[in-house]
Amino acid sequence: MTDTLQTAPFVEKAPLEHYVPPAKPSLVGLTRAELADAMAQVGIPENQRKMRVQQLWHWLYVRGARDFDAMTSVSKDLRALLAGRFTLARPEVVAEQVSADGTRKWLLRLPGEADARPHEVECVYIPEIDRGTLCLSSQVGCTLTCTFCHTGTQRLVRNLTAGEIVGQVMIARDRLGEWLGTEKLKAAGLPTEGERFISNIVMMGMGEPLYNFDAVRDAIGVISDGEGLSISKRRITLSTSGVVPMIERAGAEIGCMLAVSLHAVRDELRNELVPLNRKYPIAELLKACRGYPGLSNARRITFEYVMLKGVNDSIADAKALIQLLRGIPAKINLIPFNPWPGSQFECSDWEQIEKFSEVVFNAGYASPVRTPRGRDILAACGQLKSATEKLSARERIALRAMTMTD
Ligand code: SAH
Ligand code: SF4
Repeated sequence: MTDTLQTAPFVEKAPLEHYVPPAKPSLVGLTRAELADAMAQVGIPENQRKMRVQQLWHWLYVRGARDFDAMTSVSKDLRALLAGRFTLARPEVVAEQVSADGTRKWLLRLPGEADARPHEVECVYIPEIDRGTLCLSSQVGCTLTCTFCHTGTQRLVRNLTAGEIVGQVMIARDRLGEWLGTEKLKAAGLPTEGERFISNIVMMGMGEPLYNFDAVRDAIGVISDGEGLSISKRRITLSTSGVVPMIERAGAEIGCMLAVSLHAVRDELRNELVPLNRKYPIAELLKACRGYPGLSNARRITFEYVMLKGVNDSIADAKALIQLLRGIPAKINLIPFNPWPGSQFECSDWEQIEKFSEVVFNAGYASPVRTPRGRDILAACGQLKSATEKLSARERIALRAMTMTD
């Protein structure tokens, strides 16, 4: 915490890297329009493309096909044509870690420039009793430099493609063995529809999703498509550090749930924690939130507040927070700070988090005291969820499913 930071102008890292598509691109994660383009490339006449896209859509996003030969309803000729031009490759899983609490973290390698540093992102799965949440990354690194965030310290930055964002869901379904149809799931005694392993998605991994708007919008379109991956937009939450000019478009064009990384109630402090605040201060951010399309008591905005010892965790801060959010249909998510090597902050004491949370609770907001998940595998790319006392049924089933897949 230095004074220089407080007065420094807002500076962003310039994106350093570009997406270099592989010689043979993958169809995994593509939108319907992109799949139609792929069909055109292999010479499918225009009047057949819609039907072919429909077939591929099913194999990709309902069945999770990993090779073209599995697509038995597609003619052999077309399968061969497609296989000559495309692959069904997923992002490469470089490492998989399973926490003692059932949280899983995958390190994924994405295509980069030859001989350059690899482009890698993390994707985290958090099983809970009533849900299974997958935390997706939207960028390799982040151009923003929030002082408490590890991603902000990474130099390498590039936007993910929509395919790479959807690819993270595909990988997670592969690893959790969740491609079976409902009937097969039932027969195997595994959870169906509403009680899937992956029931919720949060864009809370690496990167600022509203700085990669088009890809995030397209990816959420694919993920929520009812004829495919079928995860409803009400179960998808996009977290932003406060890119004010994009908030309205997010509501209008994406229409998922919104989370805002507030973390401070005064501009001087937020300037330091979330430097983007120097460009879009708190009053402007909250104005944009009040105007978020579709906002209602049933569709509240989640305000994230990371608990930093002696920095933003006083009772006065808690009271100011309540004042600030007055009139906005809101949820408040208190996140214990997850320390990383070299970080300049400490997590608030547990007692203080409870006191803070009591003020929030007494003001009418549900604010369960949350404990971090997957700390032993450093799984918290920000998304820290409440721990369950013991391994839940879902976790046991998930573990069983893991041993059934490769
Ligand atoms: N860039 C977006 C989304 C990714 S970060 C955003 O900033 O909202 C997701 C959440 O994790 C944000 O609320 C972020 O402030 C929080 N976060 C980042 N680093 C953290 C840490 N070390 N401990 C706790 N929360 C953290
Ligand atoms: Fe980027 Fe979000 Fe981390 Fe800030 S908190 S540096 S916006 S990923």
